[in-house]
Amino acid sequence: MNSPLLDVVDVAVSPDHYIGGLRVASAETFDLFSPIDQKPLGRIAEGTAEHVDAAIRAALQAFPAWSAMTAAERKPYLDRFAQEIGKRADAFCALESTDAGVLLSRMRHGVVPRAMLNITWFAQHALTLQDRPMDTDQAHHIVRHDAAGVVVVITPWNAPLMLSTWKLGPALAAGNTCILKPPEWAPLTCSLLADAAHAAGLPPGVFNVVQGSGANTGAKLVSDPRIARVSFTGSVTTAKWIAQAAGANLVPCSLELGGKSPFIVLEDADLDNAAATGALMYRNAGQVCLAGTRFLVHEKVAEKFIAAMRGYVEKLNVGDPRDEATEVGPIIHPRQVDRVMGFIDRAKADGAQVLWGGARHAYGAQYIQPTMVTHLEQDDEIVQNEVFGPVLTLQTFSDDEQAVQMANGTDYGLGGVCYGETRHATEVAQRVRTGFIWVNSFGIRDLAAPFGGIKRSGVGREGGDWSFEFFCDVKDVVVPKKPFRASFSHR
Ligand code: NAD
Repeated sequence: MNSPLLDVVDVAVSPDHYIGGLRVASAETFDLFSPIDQKPLGRIAEGTAEHVDAAIRAALQAFPAWSAMTAAERKPYLDRFAQEIGKRADAFCALESTDAGVLLSRMRHGVVPRAMLNITWFAQHALTLQDRPMDTDQAHHIVRHDAAGVVVVITPWNAPLMLSTWKLGPALAAGNTCILKPPEWAPLTCSLLADAAHAAGLPPGVFNVVQGSGANTGAKLVSDPRIARVSFTGSVTTAKWIAQAAGANLVPCSLELGGKSPFIVLEDADLDNAAATGALMYRNAGQVCLAGTRFLVHEKVAEKFIAAMRGYVEKLNVGDPRDEATEVGPIIHPRQVDRVMGFIDRAKADGAQVLWGGARHAYGAQYIQPTMVTHLEQDDEIVQNEVFGPVLTLQTFSDDEQAVQMANGTDYGLGGVCYGETRHATEVAQRVRTGFIWVNSFGIRDLAAPFGGIKRSGVGREGGDWSFEFFCDVKDVVVPKKPFRASFSHR
């Protein structure tokens, strides 16, 4: 039996799982609250061992027919899936700004169009993968990208719709069947995604959603030997656990993790431009994995840069993310508020100085002021660890060598930003050890380009062909050019 739909900001959304094309209620549920005002949003199904088993069986059952289709045959389903997401754009915006606190403006203009593109772009790109020929001296090779099987997709609360579709798009286009385990602090848009898939006519079992906590539902999914891949975005701690659980069955994992990305401002940078981009790091209250959170500024321009950035930060509009004018919203969870404040308090106690912010924001219980901390050493906790809140650090350097050394001086290696005269900034950017880095810009993303981190920031790459390399079993069909005659001396 289905549970009654929740009414969240006038959007009807199911709290249940979606397994084998049907909504499935659970006797076990958990409470969901909005980070904006702590209002209860309803009780969400918790996935038990039976739900996990049912989802895996449904996905296994759907796999032969879905994977036997050509990419061209799957494409119309996926194009319809994207259209159905588009039809529900307002609902997606309302839900994710309410349960995750993502800015409504960002949802409307960035996330929802991108979620649709995540599905259509990979459906289109999959057409180019089939039977790529390769000629060598001895043979014709047909390099096939065969679907791997049942894919488990696990996503974090800071961007549930964007990150879920970023993984589902290529996984489904490649012919896999999928089980999505949404983040328990922000599960609603993933539930609505199931409505969109259903309306698009995706065959039962091709796409399933099992709600629940990571430690319970997520852990059961990734430990199951019947799955073929785990695609995970989240924290380093969870990734280590997942890698061990999946590794026990030799199931490959793609891990997109946290960051402590440098934001380098060289002596020859356009300081006003750099400062305007700098203020953008407070978007989503700093809960953005790829934000440049460690400002490294040339000592000769530091004073001017700080003044320029302060000007932009003072104008930031902190408030309700459902208001289109808001630029900085809430922190996802009370536990996370305490964690972020702990970083600030310990840094202050250790002698760091707060250039602006440094306290809770009067707007609400889960709001923290945009904060900049300085007077730091490279091995300070706040320089080394991901805060995941509106808290940035600023250190100065005297030459490029030192800037690069400081930029590379953490265990993370996700992204980076480098402002300076273009040729100079490009040269410095290339020496920074990260998965990607933006020169005189921020956030430019192309679905064909590789995305991912090095060191503790992740394993593997997503985007373009890289997504398909992970979600497929790549196979070489070797056809000799000359007649082949067996011989024991043949190598
Ligand atoms: P998290 O690791 O706590 O949770 C992420 C997901 O993993 C959730 O769905 C959770 O339920 C699930 N999970 C937790 N324990 C599990 C287990 N034992 N087995 C299976 N699943 C489990 O991370 P979070 O706090 O939700 O997200 C914030 C983190 O995500 C930050 O570190 C951030 O940098 C990172 N992130 C990275 C990217 C990227 O692309 N690199 C993007 C967004 C967020």
